[in-house]
Amino acid sequence: MNTFWSPHVGKLTPYVPGEQPRIERMIKLNTNENPYPPSPKVMAAIEAAGADRLRLYPDPQAIRLTQALAAYHGVGTDEVFVGNGSDEVLAHAFHAFFVQDAPLLMPAVSYSFYQVYCRLYGIEARLVPLDEDMRIDPGQYGAPCGGVVIANPNAPTGIALTLDEVKRILRAQPDRVVLVDEAYVDFGAESAVSLIRDYPNLLVVHTFSKSRALAGLRVGAAFGQPHLIEGLNRVKDSFNSYPLGHLEIAGAVASLEDEDYFQARRAQVMATRERQAERLRTLGFDVLPSATNFVFARHSQHRAGDLAQALRERAILVRHFKSPGIDNYLRISIGTDEECAQLVAALEDITASSLA
Ligand code: PMP
Repeated sequence: MNTFWSPHVGKLTPYVPGEQPRIERMIKLNTNENPYPPSPKVMAAIEAAGADRLRLYPDPQAIRLTQALAAYHGVGTDEVFVGNGSDEVLAHAFHAFFVQDAPLLMPAVSYSFYQVYCRLYGIEARLVPLDEDMRIDPGQYGAPCGGVVIANPNAPTGIALTLDEVKRILRAQPDRVVLVDEAYVDFGAESAVSLIRDYPNLLVVHTFSKSRALAGLRVGAAFGQPHLIEGLNRVKDSFNSYPLGHLEIAGAVASLEDEDYFQARRAQVMATRERQAERLRTLGFDVLPSATNFVFARHSQHRAGDLAQALRERAILVRHFKSPGIDNYLRISIGTDEECAQLVAALEDITASSLA
């Protein structure tokens, strides 16, 4: 352990993000980015917001974006919080609500950053197993706890709960915050934002990184009743008053204003996903039903690690998690139709040659 570090730092287990290769010609299907660019209106707004104002600090409340999100989702501005990517919003939520004298319940297979935040903030994580179909079982979230975090749709399985199932968890934990991370919700699940008025314990987290193709801008948001938003603001204003700059605010607002573009692109990704899942099944993969911009699949005869390596040699990156229970699955992001066709061709080649 480094003698200069605070003692706590040696005990952290930092998140390892998917690789961002420096080689241009790689086909990147490993970090669930959107294969299409953001709306052209986003680019125009960022350019217009630029040069003359960068001298000045941005609005610490990012009120333009808060108002645009409130209008978009039909909630009040006091029910919206924004931050530097949903990772930061999640971090503040863990800090604000889950540092309790009881463990935080979360699915045993879910977004691995949740456990990283638990370490950072000294929260005990209690992992709740998935059922045999790799689904979150809402009936398992009633134990005494310090809170609940789920991703819906879940990652990396891609499987979504219905709103009735989410309500079941909310009702099982009326005195604890239930955080629903909806990073992938726009690709086929129902959002729980419509429930926030009925459930004072519900916090819903969104990101602009996936369906809005703005992973590089770093914008995330949370929705909940004003007492939860106030808790988040207390933590945020004890950490960094200006998580979003002028460019982030302008770009995110412009994205919300281009509804036609948003709808067209997300429909395109979902259509490609369905075709892709079908082709993978034909190649011998078991593909979980996905409500996201990725598929989670395992092959009946080939180990996931070997497939990932063979794809890498063909300049295609997919994600392989070496964690128990999912180490024989590949998580494959949905690319353009062309990228998906190249992936299928490579897999045909790999599975055929190694069987020969
Ligand atoms: N939640 C889930 C389930 C994710 O997969 C991701 C992306 N890795 C995030 C949150 C964070 O996304 P961002 O910080 O880009 O908003």
